[in-house]
Parts: sequence; C-alpha cells; structure tokens
Amino acid sequence: MIEILSPSEVARARDTGALVGEILQALRRRATVGTNLLQIDRWAQAMIRDAGAQSCYVDYAPSFGRGPFGHYICTAVNDAVLHGLPHDYALRDGDLLTLDLAVSLRGIAADSAISFVVGGSPAPADVALIEATERALAAGIAAARPGARIGDLSHAIGTVLTGAGYPVNTEFGGHGIGSTMHQDPHVANSGRPGRGYPLRPGLLLALEPWVMADTDRLVTDADGWTLRSATGCRTAHSEHTIAITDDGAEILTLPR
Ligand code: MG
Ligand code: MG
Repeated sequence: MIEILSPSEVARARDTGALVGEILQALRRRATVGTNLLQIDRWAQAMIRDAGAQSCYVDYAPSFGRGPFGHYICTAVNDAVLHGLPHDYALRDGDLLTLDLAVSLRGIAADSAISFVVGGSPAPADVALIEATERALAAGIAAARPGARIGDLSHAIGTVLTGAGYPVNTEFGGHGIGSTMHQDPHVANSGRPGRGYPLRPGLLLALEPWVMADTDRLVTDADGWTLRSATGCRTAHSEHTIAITDDGAEILTLPR
C-alpha cells in the first residue's frame, strides 16, 4: 500500500523530520575520538525520550534482521554500511561513521542518515565516498516532483553514484514512509527513468543512496544485523525524508 498524507499529517511530518535532523547533528557534534557506539545509542535514546517521540528501531524485527533490533540508532563504522548494530567499540581517529535514525512523533515517522569522518584528518577517498552519496541524494531530491516516477529518482541517484565510479547495490534502497517507517514504494539506487509509480503531493519518501568503494556485495555480521562490504572496503550512506509537494519536494529531515 502506498500512503498519501493529508496536509495536517505533512505538517506533523515536518516536526518529526526536524527532530530526526536535530538529533543526528547533535550526535555528530558529540561523536569524537574515544566515543563508544553504545554511548551514542544511549544519547539517542535520551533525546528521543525527551522529545516525547518513539523509536522506530528498538522493537523492529524485519525478515532481514535477527529478532528485535534492541537499540535506538544504527551505527556503522568503516566497512559496515547498513543496519549497524551498536556495540562496545570506541571510535578512532579517521573512522568513517554512519548514523541512521528513524523516530515516530505523534504517529508520523521520519528517517535520515549521515556519514562523516571522526577526528581531524579525513582520508580524501573517504571524503569522496561521502560526497558521492550526498550528491546522489541531492540529485534524487531534485528529480522528485508530482508526475515524476520512482524510476526517475532511481536513475538520478544511480547516475551520480556510477559516475563517481562506485558499483551500485539495488537490494536495499529508499522507501515510502508515513505512519510506519518502511512502506512501498521501494526506491532503488539505480534504475530506468519513466518507470514505476508516479509521485503525488502528500507522498513521503526516504531517499538513501549508499555505496561501497569497490564492490556491490554485502555480508552480514555475526550479530545478525550489521551489513558490511564483502571486500572490507569503506562505505558511506546519506538519507533524507522528503515530502512531495505541488511544486517539487521538501526536505523534512533538516534541523530547524
Ligand atoms: Mg534510515
Ligand atoms: Mg530508510
């Protein structure tokens, strides 16, 4: 089912989105050399609770994970890219960290992810990887307007990732979002223009380009959740929740 939100529901989605964006930026400022991933999870838990919001993750038990996730944020370091289960690990200088957060506030969910390098000296290859996902995300958002089709967004995203020289995995990608975190339609990170569901005002999408430097193959960690690059190469991921409007797309998951 594809959910179309009413104007008042979109207004609530703005509040959820701003909260997600603010929590991610606050965590980005706090995450430094020596910060433990479990501490980041506790900070996220407290910020969600203090805002009166609910975690979309803690009880989440989809077919691709092992039982309830049990944590409040995804933390993926270096070769880990998706569904990173927080664990006892202290961040090191130069680690490439992805934080992925989804919460629900007054019945509407929002989902966003950021990647950044911890410490003072990011490797140029890591910066390039992160920037490719950010540019792909911007291209997908720019392609989103009423009448455009999901394939147009996939094509815009995939063109940037491929053009930057990275293989693209289409198994995991963007998705509809609204009263729940993961909904139809699926938005693959590569695809053919002019195909798929036509966008309408009131549709919320989470667009999320992610890449691995030299492979499109994932392996699952022993923890049953964390997905890593099959070659051990570095990875990055950028995500925003957007609302389709009469004029184009509005990014919901930016801090106010
Ligand atoms: Mg996400
Ligand atoms: Mg998502």
